[in-house]
Amino acid sequence: MKLIYDFSDGNATMRALLGGKGANLAEMTKLGIPVPPGFTITTEVCNQYLANGRKFPKDLDKEIAQHLSALEKKMKKGFGDIKNPLLVSVRSGAKFSMPGMMETVLNLGLNDETVVGLIENTKNERFAYDAYRRFIQMFGSVVLGIEHDAFEHELEKIKIARNIKLDTEMTAEDLKQLIELYKKVVRKETSAEFPSDPQEQLKLSIQAVFDSWNIPRAITYRQIHKIPHDLGTAVNIQSMVFGNMGDDSGTGVAFTRDPSTGEKKFFGEFLINAQGEDVVAGIRTPQPISKMQKVMPKIYKQLVLVYQKLEKHYCDMQDLEFTIEKGKLFLLQTRNGKRTAAAAVKIAVDLVKEKRINKKEALLRLEAHQLNQLLHRCIDPKAQKEVIARGLPASPGAACGMVVFSADEAEDFHEKGKKVILVRKETSPEDIHGMHVAQGILTSCGGMTSHAAVVARGMGKCCISGANDVWVDYEKQKFIVGKVEVKKGDIITLDGSTGEVILGEVKTTEPKLTKEFEIILQWADEYRILKIRANADTPHDAQTARDFGAEGIGLCRTEHMFFDPVRIRVMREMILSETQEERKKALLKLLPMQRQDFIEMFEVMRGLPVTIRLLDPPLHEFLPHKKTEWDELAKEMKVSPKKIQDKIASLHELNPMLGHRGCRLMITFPEIAEMQARAIFEAACSVQKSGINIIPEIMIPLVGTMKEFEVLAKLIRRVGREVILESGVDLKYAVGTMIEVPRACMRAKKIATNAEFFSFGTNDLTQMTFGYSRDDASKFIPKYLDIGILDNDPFEVLDQRGVGELMRIGVRLGRQGRKDIKMGICGEHGGEPSSIEFCHELGLNYVSCSPFRVPIARLAAAQAVLRRRG
Ligand code: ADP
Ligand code: MG
Ligand code: MG
Repeated sequence: MKLIYDFSDGNATMRALLGGKGANLAEMTKLGIPVPPGFTITTEVCNQYLANGRKFPKDLDKEIAQHLSALEKKMKKGFGDIKNPLLVSVRSGAKFSMPGMMETVLNLGLNDETVVGLIENTKNERFAYDAYRRFIQMFGSVVLGIEHDAFEHELEKIKIARNIKLDTEMTAEDLKQLIELYKKVVRKETSAEFPSDPQEQLKLSIQAVFDSWNIPRAITYRQIHKIPHDLGTAVNIQSMVFGNMGDDSGTGVAFTRDPSTGEKKFFGEFLINAQGEDVVAGIRTPQPISKMQKVMPKIYKQLVLVYQKLEKHYCDMQDLEFTIEKGKLFLLQTRNGKRTAAAAVKIAVDLVKEKRINKKEALLRLEAHQLNQLLHRCIDPKAQKEVIARGLPASPGAACGMVVFSADEAEDFHEKGKKVILVRKETSPEDIHGMHVAQGILTSCGGMTSHAAVVARGMGKCCISGANDVWVDYEKQKFIVGKVEVKKGDIITLDGSTGEVILGEVKTTEPKLTKEFEIILQWADEYRILKIRANADTPHDAQTARDFGAEGIGLCRTEHMFFDPVRIRVMREMILSETQEERKKALLKLLPMQRQDFIEMFEVMRGLPVTIRLLDPPLHEFLPHKKTEWDELAKEMKVSPKKIQDKIASLHELNPMLGHRGCRLMITFPEIAEMQARAIFEAACSVQKSGINIIPEIMIPLVGTMKEFEVLAKLIRRVGREVILESGVDLKYAVGTMIEVPRACMRAKKIATNAEFFSFGTNDLTQMTFGYSRDDASKFIPKYLDIGILDNDPFEVLDQRGVGELMRIGVRLGRQGRKDIKMGICGEHGGEPSSIEFCHELGLNYVSCSPFRVPIARLAAAQAVLRRRG
């Protein structure tokens, strides 16, 4: 096995073995771009070293010696040579870039003797001592693990004694003195001398890079970014070039296009007479790259040629590091540059126009998740902010406003023209009005599919859920996080894309569907097979969905329609009724209102399919939760308080999630289903009459047996016949079911003989398959993710192995029962890219997601096709 590759041996395809940095240094060398020579120790060596209890593989020392001697020849310098020392940098680099994992060691090879040679060679005493002291400092903190501050402290002491402010004001003599002080620090902290033997320096640095693979912050970084832990890191050993040798030297960082807008222009910064790390550390403010044209016109021209060559070669925007040593340009790094979602989209479209890549490549390059950024208000990435807590990034975007603790208050302040953030332990359907007027929602409990999260996403509203450190005190009208107390009326900002809760106001930026984004989505539509529908409960949401390109409504939940003040009252009348007759009377009042809801929905959707789900939640959700409100309700309804109490007691359930809801509710109260079916059919017939073609799809929730479906389907079809006959309109419709109880998957064949469509309700299906209550899961899911019991929150990313397997069974059996049965998904997973890919693989007809996720779903559905084609 080859343990080491010279930069002239590798290439860009060898990222896994050489790490991204090493592979690209090799590729640039191959392209004839000036790169300081060097070699790369492979990631495999790292893995062996870690597996063998921190021991180098047998031949590593020998191979290092061989490559080092080749490097000495090439550079005409000697490693540890007193007269003409070769200095190197030791740089880590894994397959995926992991910023902040391990810092680089520069100027390695210096000691009290070689520094003299460096002075002789460069005729620059100050430079040489500065390089030496930087080396001790970097090696000390990176390799020996000494606190950076221990060195900074000595530096400060000298500056104070000399009464100077800047590092650059220090003389050679100061630096010489500093070196001795640094050595003392090392002696004190490690009880040993600073290693002066360059061979030992090198060996220790290589070990430190390998060891850094398993330091906690590297592990955490990999967890967050879903990078496997067994890749290992490579080590690059590269001859040094110096940007700090005078005014004909310098260093900089550049992007081949603007990484925040994607605009095609050379973008970057540079510093004259400085080393690489100075640009990042902010010791001096760098100049924009365009200035280089004036001060170093020849180098600038050369750099432009190099960047154009690199971009052309990699067919993507590059992020470059370069250094100029005495008028000679060197490239030290290139990689595909990180960019905002807006830039990613623009660059992809532009590269197609420039014929650098084709449409398929453009579509595959975009990260569907990241496009979320484009559809919501965002925190200005440049803004200053004080983060006080973190929760789940439940619904992206940014929101700022004054804190309120109840939906009613939210409405009151909203009417007074105030912007509010609704802060709750959790939300329930009766908070809808408050959520609707709030800028954003923060809850201390609940997960990614808690009520607050689902509703907020549906509204395209920023939401952070499950911020467990936030302690909400409704009584005292405040919340507490650690030492911070936030009272009603205080201003906070939420970043729903990161889950950060921020004190005070932070600047935000507007979302816009750019021209380029539209183009990308049109391309996506050319390739995708899945249809994209939206979950929308109101005409307004339906319109948003259409604007984003939805091809139908996959889930219209009807319960939300009953929460406005007039309707909730009638609803409560119905619930408090003693007899079926009374219930029917109350329902008759709801009928015209429901009919109007559906008419409006159908009109917005004009000819596109609309799936309407019959009432799903248990009835107690429509009654007030607080004791204080019970008496008020009794007065309003003109009944005794006892009656209210009794009713609430009788509706009380130990486990409402598995309780009297869905089809179970409608089988016991068929008049509810009858009213809803009538409202749907009457609305459809009246819209049809006005010339808009409409095919309502009526969906029965929570079916687990064919009989359940049969009972309600029969009722619905009977009402359908009646209404169609009354109105004399030729209306087509379908009756189908949600598949959300595991048993329904196993009995799908039987159910499909009667049901005309299936829609996988994966929120409940996940809940019931795992047996996790989704409103309580935030108590243990973080731990499960932490220790690797789960890879993802199954309420966010479809669990393909378990829940997905049930779906597969449901699809297969469903098709056996009815060959052409239409199938879709309407759980939250319908807007999640990896889940969409899975639905494509299952052969579903459509996915349905919240309106603001429709564009992402369009892209993800196209990517699913392209990826599977390979
Ligand atoms: P990171 O991945 O954190 O950017 P790098 O390995 O790229 O770390 O190095 C940090 C800094 O040191 C960069 O500015 C880089 O350009 C500079 N650097 C690394 N190796 C050399 C070298 N051989 N000569 C000059 N500068 C170097
Ligand atoms: Mg770098
Ligand atoms: Mg359900």
